[in-house]
Amino acid sequence: MKSRKAKSYPRKCAVKFCRRKVHKSEKSPICSRHRARRWKERYPLRYSFNKLRNRARERGHEFLLTFKHYEKFALESGYAEGKGKTAESFSINRIDENRGYSVDNIECITLSENSSHHAKLPDDYPF
Ligand SMILES: [Zn+2]
Repeated sequence: MKSRKAKSYPRKCAVKFCRRKVHKSEKSPICSRHRARRWKERYPLRYSFNKLRNRARERGHEFLLTFKHYEKFALESGYAEGKGKTAESFSINRIDENRGYSVDNIECITLSENSSHHAKLPDDYPF
């Protein structure tokens, strides 16, 4: 006698047209890629904070900012609103290039200002 299981694993992602599978150990109904995307849309500052921290580590810069510092800085400086991918978008710059990321060593400037002051691109440069 054949019996059908109520749920078959692996499940498919609940997002329409997505064919990626969801591992049975995951509670979420959507795949990891879509979960990452939703998380990014929901917590844009968390996402950009993680990205900046990863870049800083890759480049060997000290990173002393906590998310709380970052969030406060981003909201007060306008970075949260103005960050993006054009030359007029804001980016985070280290004031003293010999030092890492800390509350007193970051400023919010536009990419065009940044490239005129410095030869190198900022760590949060999006491309
Ligand atoms: Zn998906």
